[in-house]
Amino acid sequence: MPFAALGLSPAIVRALQIEGFSSPSAIQTEAIPTILAGRDVVGSAQTGSGKTLAYGLPLLEKISTLASGRARRIHALVLVPTRELAVQAGTTLRELAGHLQQEIRITVVFGGVSINPQLLALRGGAHIVVATPGRLLDLIAHNAVRLDTVQTLVLDEADRLLELGFQDELRSILECLPKARQSLFFSATFPAAVVELADALLLDPVRIAVALEPQTESDIEQHAVLVDAGRRTQLLRHLINTNHWKRVLVFVATKHAAEIVADKLRKVRIHAEPFHGELSQGKRAQVLADFKASRLTAIVATDLAARGIDIHQLPVVVNYDLPRSSIDYTHRIGRTGRAGEHGVAFSFVTPAQEPHFRLIQKRNALSLPLDTVEGFEAAEVIPPLHNGGGIKGKRPSKKDKLRAQNSNSDLKISL
Ligand code: AMP
Repeated sequence: MPFAALGLSPAIVRALQIEGFSSPSAIQTEAIPTILAGRDVVGSAQTGSGKTLAYGLPLLEKISTLASGRARRIHALVLVPTRELAVQAGTTLRELAGHLQQEIRITVVFGGVSINPQLLALRGGAHIVVATPGRLLDLIAHNAVRLDTVQTLVLDEADRLLELGFQDELRSILECLPKARQSLFFSATFPAAVVELADALLLDPVRIAVALEPQTESDIEQHAVLVDAGRRTQLLRHLINTNHWKRVLVFVATKHAAEIVADKLRKVRIHAEPFHGELSQGKRAQVLADFKASRLTAIVATDLAARGIDIHQLPVVVNYDLPRSSIDYTHRIGRTGRAGEHGVAFSFVTPAQEPHFRLIQKRNALSLPLDTVEGFEAAEVIPPLHNGGGIKGKRPSKKDKLRAQNSNSDLKISL
């Protein structure tokens, strides 16, 4: 089906052609006509399946038909959970808008950088604002932005934005928006707890779910490797060298681990950098740019890099530490195998983490064999209290109990 059949104007179809997009993805085919018809949408589709354009094209379409007198009022607000995703979504929309005759202003605002250029940019007006919640609230406090003209609200990675960590900020932003508006929530995952919250914010939404599992299985080849905790860096190095990986995204559990593992890789002359929330925004942007330009072989990241980030030709993702939640597993491995490319995801599973990995698999309806790599066979003895790490004969401490509880309850890592 061509883009034109979805109700998009010839100018937008031409812009898509210039950008090299010839036919819509599944989520775009379903979502675009529904959004153009003015309905609220909950869209869930595989990471990397073209969600940005699924909501972005109808926004551009609607704004390009606005009478010029109404120009530069904020028509749409796109909220995203991370700065990198704000830049990425803004760039995608700007590239397309740049081919249109009518000027469509897209302003991207996020924290971690000076607020002044963003104040200036907003003073010139914007049709679409792409924002992270915290910085948007700062700008509202500076009277730099008014949201009472917003007709469409988009939550990109909606489940993350509806989580506890963002709830207060989201509530404050919603108070600034008109009640009568269109709301579009997109994510690869919608846990049950979030669905209820989402429903309270949506008006008779159309639910669009596009083939989640088949694509996960066909585009991303998943492996699990049993290895001792203390040998994971050596195994990573071995895999990078023997497979000649040129670009690998490695996920770890903490900022500290990101620093340590990247450092160890550098010591064996593998170009690696950490990527986590404590780095300056300039450093984060630099690391991503270096990675995309193949100046780095490995990024060692926390879950900060798990959402939305689109790196073309990222063939390999490694879970050096397993994610806490099955949902994070989906988002992490979804950094590879994007837009129909083939990708490989490796998960390192230590003997103590086997129960947790079984849970991740169960919740994602996976059944992966636990492989071993020659020379790296696991020899660790698991303490009787399994991943609680207790000592035989000793009653579990409060910490042990908490750990066991956390590993079973699919909690998310807070960033
Ligand atoms: P997203 O899910 O929005 O992050 O998009 C993932 C990747 O798919 C990006 O690299 C897009 O450029 C690409 N993409 C989006 N829509 C299409 C399409 N209709 N045809 C081919 N590639 C697309």
